[in-house]
Amino acid sequence: RIAYVNGRYVPHAEAVVHIEDRGYQFADGVYEVIAVAGGRLIDEIGHLERLDRSLRELRISPPMAYRSLALVIRETLRRNRVRDGIVYLQITRGVSRRDHPFPDGVRPALVLTAKSVNFAAVAARAEKGVRVITVEDIRWARRDIKSISLLPNVLAKQDAREAGAYEAFQVDGEGLVTEGSSTNAWIIDTDGRLVTRDLGTAILPGITRQSVIDIARQNGYTIVERAFTVEELKSAREVFLTSTTSFVMPVVQVDDKVIGNGQPGSLSTALLAAYRDYMDEVGHA
Ligand code: PMP
Repeated sequence: RIAYVNGRYVPHAEAVVHIEDRGYQFADGVYEVIAVAGGRLIDEIGHLERLDRSLRELRISPPMAYRSLALVIRETLRRNRVRDGIVYLQITRGVSRRDHPFPDGVRPALVLTAKSVNFAAVAARAEKGVRVITVEDIRWARRDIKSISLLPNVLAKQDAREAGAYEAFQVDGEGLVTEGSSTNAWIIDTDGRLVTRDLGTAILPGITRQSVIDIARQNGYTIVERAFTVEELKSAREVFLTSTTSFVMPVVQVDDKVIGNGQPGSLSTALLAAYRDYMDEVGHA
């Protein structure tokens, strides 16, 4: 495998960053994960726009122009021979002697890696549906920024893993579901409407979330962007989650509560099929 590190392509095993990189010292950086299907990037523009926004919010200067970054992404994928998989991009504020305030005159550090992923395994999982648990959301107040500071997300996912679940849905102080540790959370209410939390600072604006909203609207579904309670979650007609690497994943159990008949819901399954069609059609070569 080959990684891109600050202007050079290096063997993955030899790719290193400085110990005083602010990403290492302070988690002072942002990232993106973009899926590649059949050699095409899925929602590249959405991901790069979100990356740009994350950088602006943290006042980290872009390491290179958008066009150049798009080329580096393709070259990294090519060198790793990825047809189905993901590309990971990380930008940190740069290398400087450890001190909390922004250092003067540092260049941001850019790292890219790419790997192949077996999407058939994702599809197999979706056919059975997954279980999720609920956990307290202990993250900071700017969850809209795709920061590399992921310790609460790591702890939530570990809780899920130890419970034998696929994901942990995080719940804020008001008893409202925010999102999964690395996914957005959705319910289908008793009137057949799709409900997912509204954007703001409480959740990451998922790129898959937005694509699914657009696809669902085109297919005539009603979408309501609002917060929902854990009680609504557990009594929902259907539950699913979305992300770059999980696509549309039906949820068949929340904590001890079985959703519907314990099988992936018909609407979730239809949305997954529509999303897979979208992946086949609209990638950026
Ligand atoms: N929420 C969080 C906290 C995430 O980390 C992710 C994955 N990046 C998502 C939602 C899903 O976002 P996307 O659809 O852009 O992958």
